[in-house]
Amino acid sequence: MIWNDSEQDLRTAAEQLRQGNLVAIPTETVYGLGANALDEAAVASIFRAKGRPADNPLIVHIADLKDIETYAYPNQWAYRLAERFWPGPLTMILPKKKMIPSIVSAGLESVALRFPAHPIAQKLIRYANCPIAAPSANVSGKPSGTTAQHVLHDFEDRISGVVDGGPCACGLESTVVSLLDDNPVLLRPGFITPQQLREVLPSLLIARGVEEELQKNEVVLSPGLAHKHYAPNAETIGLLGDAESAARYIKSQCITEPYAVMCFDGEEHFYDTSVILSYGRRGDARAQGEKLFETLRVLDDKQVKRIYINAEKCDGIGLAVYNRLLRSCGFQMIRV
Ligand code: AMP
Ligand code: MG
Repeated sequence: MIWNDSEQDLRTAAEQLRQGNLVAIPTETVYGLGANALDEAAVASIFRAKGRPADNPLIVHIADLKDIETYAYPNQWAYRLAERFWPGPLTMILPKKKMIPSIVSAGLESVALRFPAHPIAQKLIRYANCPIAAPSANVSGKPSGTTAQHVLHDFEDRISGVVDGGPCACGLESTVVSLLDDNPVLLRPGFITPQQLREVLPSLLIARGVEEELQKNEVVLSPGLAHKHYAPNAETIGLLGDAESAARYIKSQCITEPYAVMCFDGEEHFYDTSVILSYGRRGDARAQGEKLFETLRVLDDKQVKRIYINAEKCDGIGLAVYNRLLRSCGFQMIRV
């Protein structure tokens, strides 16, 4: 079922959420696979539908600032971040209150909270009259869904429906910051950048695992850092450098089977393959973020055995794009 943003459709979708069913909801980041966060059985069905490991906790979405105190124990930083960035693409990890079921937090004593900016998400949360647990709406390990069609592709028979809010504006999941102790830590980069966060949190650290692969036995600050993510079915290899060097590297591999290239806009002519898609201009992380998951999904449908992605490493939103690409390639990122 696809609902639109009419009052009647939103009321119907919210009623489904209230009754414990799964509804995919548009947000400014990516589509979320939503369920009533206070209903354990409903939350369990999110994990089942996605095939999500039980140790990977969910983000709880609220639509009223004061609910930060209903579900968590906020500190001064939380209030200041909320004032500056909410509603918006920022998730805060805070000590959780008992009323959040432990299945939501995967047994942790903390909870991830976000107040999304998307008007449809806000209305659904208010009409359902409950907090909504919603991980990205994709089969676990696969690229996130940024359109209602992506969601139906992954979940058609397993959800009550999706509310179609058009393509997501950011296209990348929220920035996640842990505020559990005296050292605020960035666990996942996103549209809200480290530079912006440091205006409120000057001592912000970046978790190991964000820009590099974690070593075995390393302490993991967020379960999501240790899991496989955003990976197409084909073997995917990142090439860090300019287009000419990337093309030269691919040629040197003497590949005999069809392969795909994901490159920057206007650099297609460097490559010698028929399966080629671009994902935004070099240096324009905002545009890249918007097209990243859509492009990975289209390439995945091309049935190639290997995908090469030309990548760059930049600050700001670029860190979020790089973080997703690193995981899409299972950390096979070669400097060319
Ligand atoms: P997703 O649901 O796909 O947007 O991913 C949510 C991310 O937030 C995952 O990387 C989770 O591991 C992370 N997360 C959620 N709750 C917590 C928590 N309580 N502590 C640390 N990380 C969390
Ligand atoms: Mg996800």
